[in-house]
Amino acid sequence: MSDKADQMANSGRAVGYCLNERCSDFAVGRVLVRRDEGFNCSRCERYGRIEYERGRKLGAFEFVSEIQVEFNYDPVRDVYLERTSVRDERLLTQQSVYKLKTPMVQTQIEAANVGRVVMAAINRKLERRPRLRNLQTRAALLSEGWQTLV
Ligand SMILES: [Zn+2]
Repeated sequence: MSDKADQMANSGRAVGYCLNERCSDFAVGRVLVRRDEGFNCSRCERYGRIEYERGRKLGAFEFVSEIQVEFNYDPVRDVYLERTSVRDERLLTQQSVYKLKTPMVQTQIEAANVGRVVMAAINRKLERRPRLRNLQTRAALLSEGWQTLV
């Protein structure tokens, strides 16, 4: 698990919702800044539901080839209504999957952007890896008597 991605997903970001059907703020989301605070509706003053942004990696691989983002949270039914996934096309074989649930995101475009940011944070070590496969290929070509331009 990448610390940075873990911090991003478990950032303490959360949204509070009033579940009092007679309140004018019923099911309206309010972003909470601190993880340890409860949520009291500022209109009816009742306790509401808190939904935390959270994520976890499934699988034992170092890298993730897919981020699944659940978004468009419905506080009344306590379910996420939509899901999208982002894949890292550089990874040819199946790696781990990272699942992110976020009440902060409402649209498909936002969800895809968040997925790409989390993917980049987790897979950033890929950028520093020597490309062994390419080096072997070039070495193999040279050993066969070919010249390569790079
Ligand atoms: Zn209320």
